[in-house]
Amino acid sequence: MSARKSDENGIVVIGLGRFGCRLAGALTRLGHEVLAIDRDPEKVQRWSSELDRVVQADATEEGVLRQLGVTDFRRVVVAIGASIEASVLTVLALAELDIPQIWARANSEKHAKILSSVGANHVIFPEAEIGERVAHLIVSRMLDFMEFGDDFAIAKVPVIDGMIGKPLRDLAPGERYGVMVVGAKLPGERFRYAGPDTVLTEGSVLIVEGSIDQVQRFASMA
Ligand code: ATP
Repeated sequence: MSARKSDENGIVVIGLGRFGCRLAGALTRLGHEVLAIDRDPEKVQRWSSELDRVVQADATEEGVLRQLGVTDFRRVVVAIGASIEASVLTVLALAELDIPQIWARANSEKHAKILSSVGANHVIFPEAEIGERVAHLIVSRMLDFMEFGDDFAIAKVPVIDGMIGKPLRDLAPGERYGVMVVGAKLPGERFRYAGPDTVLTEGSVLIVEGSIDQVQRFASMA
């Protein structure tokens, strides 16, 4: 039996560009041990005081990854973006090493397809995901928006005038607006679950769910 995966809590982050270093920092703050790898000595120098372990290496080399103990980790994120060749070869090396959860960042739809076909279990496409989200925020008055696939979305939106002063029971937002109000934050208070008795006041912020169109339409009324 292999001694690998001893470090259930640890995560390897390969590539300390703008995306990789923020990801590694966030994982560290969440209490995970991070092994960060970059081939650029300046990046290694820059991040060594802020991350647990930062090593300089070319991650496309399977033998190098093995030597660094990458096979002890269950989760590896390939955060290399611009160099498609380096990102694909790194995912391939990790797949050869049987890493159970390989996350990889793609730059385009084609890049995403290649990463999946060589062994990435999760492909992230940050520019596309952020672009989609920001588009919704710009064209409506949503304060935040998240799409879950299968035409389902959740959004944070300011309350609309027609909803002020009456309990949600009377407002029947599902029938009138096609969305369900699942949370509400009255001015000066914290977010809480919204129920039939919740009465919204001016300046309230809502969490609503529904189809993408319905949520978008509701946010445009707000
Ligand atoms: P970002 O948008 O996150 O800033 P980028 O697309 O501008 O990234 P990339 O070329 O994707 O830049 O590089 C991200 C990081 O990955 C860089 O710090 C680079 O040194 C590192 N990197 C690239 N190739 C390898 C490799 N083969 N092994 C290890 N690190 C690598």
